[in-house]
Amino acid sequence: MKKDKIFAFSTLMLISLATVIAMAMTHNHNYWYLLEAVAIVSALFFYLPGALIAAVIAVIAGLVLLPAPPDYVTYIRLLLISGLIGWFVGREQNSRKQLERLLMVDRLTGLHNYSYFIDRLEEERRRADRFGSKLSLAMIDIDHFKPFNDKYGHRLGNEFLIKLAKVLSKQVRTVDIVCRYGGEEFAVILPNTGKKAQDVAERMRMAVAATDFPVNKDGKVERKTISIGVATYPTDAEDDLQLIDRADEALYIAKESGRNLVIVYQSQGKDDNVSLTK
Ligand code: GH3
Ligand code: MG
Ligand code: MG
Repeated sequence: MKKDKIFAFSTLMLISLATVIAMAMTHNHNYWYLLEAVAIVSALFFYLPGALIAAVIAVIAGLVLLPAPPDYVTYIRLLLISGLIGWFVGREQNSRKQLERLLMVDRLTGLHNYSYFIDRLEEERRRADRFGSKLSLAMIDIDHFKPFNDKYGHRLGNEFLIKLAKVLSKQVRTVDIVCRYGGEEFAVILPNTGKKAQDVAERMRMAVAATDFPVNKDGKVERKTISIGVATYPTDAEDDLQLIDRADEALYIAKESGRNLVIVYQSQGKDDNVSLTK
């Protein structure tokens, strides 16, 4: 349970308990309306189940503890109001969560999108700091994708992006996070991974190079390749944004060196004198 819900739960419990004791001691039916308020507030925090439990407690307390309890119309009103509020707030909460999920997903490929990537990379960097672990990032770019689009059209180009997303996702562990960085560029966050990141990247590169992609109904297929740049935190970068730059620099070298390659960024000590090696 989140902190605000724990606070609400404890406060509502305390108010209910104090009210029930006051009702039992004084038999003053005005106290009952405090229980009604508790049921309505419960609906806001704990939705339909919370509303119904609190309303039922209020009804039972009224019947058992008061010599002149509120009439049944009051009880029905309470159940209706708190129940409806609980149902409505719960429904709104669900749609908000669904919307939040959609905001984090790339619509074409179903992968995580750029917003999610940036937030998650920061989160994983913090986790790496906390546990003293390594965090790697692989930046991926399709080789010569523009000519493919020019030849077969953007719609088929998009189909290729969908297929590529599936191939990449298959090559990584469930803890790794495959994202569409933008256009025909992808980024894979590899938590708790140092040197092994190169193997993962190599696996992705080979899997893509070996994938047949159908380009017409007659069974004609094309194969495309990808280039990958890999960098590791904290070895190569001081923070998560610099990690992106480092992986990008390695990717650039992969392109310059002929494509269909994995290049790992390698820092030389702590100064700015860095070199890039394959
Ligand atoms: P390089 O090997 O240097 O990467 O060559 P490239 O042609 O792939 O060039 P670049 O990486 O700059 O890719 C840009 C092209 O990618 C432009 C466009 O045709 C294609 N592209 C980018 N985003 C999309 C997309 O969402 N859908 C499709 N179908 N194509 C895209
Ligand atoms: Mg590109
Ligand atoms: Mg490209």
